[in-house]
Amino acid sequence: MSGAIVPSPWMTPELEGFRDAVRRFVGSEVAPHAERFRQQQHVDRALWHKGGEMGILLADIPEQYGGAGGSFAHQAIVFEELAYIGDMAFGIHVHAIVAHYILNQGTEAQKLKYLPRLASGEMVGAIAMSEPGAGSDLKGIRSSAVKTADGYKIDGSKTFISNGYLADLILVVVKTDPAAGARGVSLLLLETKDNPGFRVGRILEKVGQKGQDTCELFFDGAHASLDSVLGGVEGKGFAQLMTELPYERTILGLSGVAAIERALELTIEHTKNRTAFGQALIDMQNTRFVLAEIKTEATVARIFIDRCVEDMLAGRMDTVRASMAKYWISDLQCKVIDQCVQLFGGYGYMLEYPIAQMYVDARVQRIYGGANEIMKEIIARSL
Ligand SMILES: Cc1cc2nc3c(=O)[nH]c(=O)nc-3n(C[C@H](O)[C@H](O)[C@H](O)COP(=O)(O)OP(=O)(O)OC[C@H]3O[C@@H](n4cnc5c(N)ncnc54)[C@H](O)[C@@H]3O)c2cc1C
Repeated sequence: MSGAIVPSPWMTPELEGFRDAVRRFVGSEVAPHAERFRQQQHVDRALWHKGGEMGILLADIPEQYGGAGGSFAHQAIVFEELAYIGDMAFGIHVHAIVAHYILNQGTEAQKLKYLPRLASGEMVGAIAMSEPGAGSDLKGIRSSAVKTADGYKIDGSKTFISNGYLADLILVVVKTDPAAGARGVSLLLLETKDNPGFRVGRILEKVGQKGQDTCELFFDGAHASLDSVLGGVEGKGFAQLMTELPYERTILGLSGVAAIERALELTIEHTKNRTAFGQALIDMQNTRFVLAEIKTEATVARIFIDRCVEDMLAGRMDTVRASMAKYWISDLQCKVIDQCVQLFGGYGYMLEYPIAQMYVDARVQRIYGGANEIMKEIIARSL
């Protein structure tokens, strides 16, 4: 996979070198194992350790906290390169999101305690917001945490939690004061090891992204320490979520653009090689027009997301634009991949063809990270 459809202005020679190293790593450690990851419904724990050694798990976390000390551009490259090999199993995205919550919202002690272990892959991170009865409307969550003499007692359940099977550290959204509405929500750092009140349910059988361990989680008097409240003060959970969600939504957009670029490249190659009615598919006007449209859309999306990356680097990315990136690009990703499947004909419906795998993996991009309708609500509030 050659990469961005137009050169990204934020790339530098140093970042090119980093990209080459990441490309080699994902090409040897992730891509060859994709089918096995799908069969077992999760990546190998050893992959997390290898990723830690490579410095790609927390590429944009400062070195003083064990991260690689790079910028958002380094982490963006990791997400792009995973998308360019079609990986949807290695949950670095969620892992990095958890680390950013801790970096930006945690106490100094929480940063020193957890970030080095997340950076090395010793701990795998997950964030548990969604529940069986509340996804888009997080005010409706029912999981609760009650303060006891030695910590917090957590009861409730979560569902659809990425990295749930392997997670050692889960940022759990709970109500610490059920009577206080949004002001009664807190984020707790829960360690899963030796925690008898915590249980991982089944790994959910999904339409796509089958190598990703998306799970149900159960809390039946699960224990979190007294200093587990993110930032040290109860009731700040909602504000913390609102502050950090743009990071998640920008990286969803970024991965979506890389997937569009890959789909286009795969389809150009296929339509050049496949013949029908005595000519290559790419010589037919419909194929050329469809691919011309996709190339235009891919270029527009790339230029837009590159601006988002630049704004992330400059610290001026905002919630509204992150919501635009998430909704518009994920919609485009699904549309483009569907068109590409059509140009592959029957082969586009065979999972041994990467375009078919991309088709089933893409659909959820419009749902998770906040459904696209919720993104439009956020954008509409800015009108
Ligand atoms: C593969 C996968 C991985 C996930 N990973 C995680 C994770 O790691 N952590 C986590 O906490 N959650 C995770 N989720 C959950 C995901 O964030 C939710 O599924 C999503 O937020 C939607 O919530 P819901 O499923 O409860 O749908 P609902 O809230 O029931 O909404 C269903 C649909 O109703 C419509 N809708 C809802 N509200 C509105 C509105 N206000 N206006 C207009 N339309 C609306 C939308 O079309 C929406 O898609 C994951 C989900 C999947 C499928």
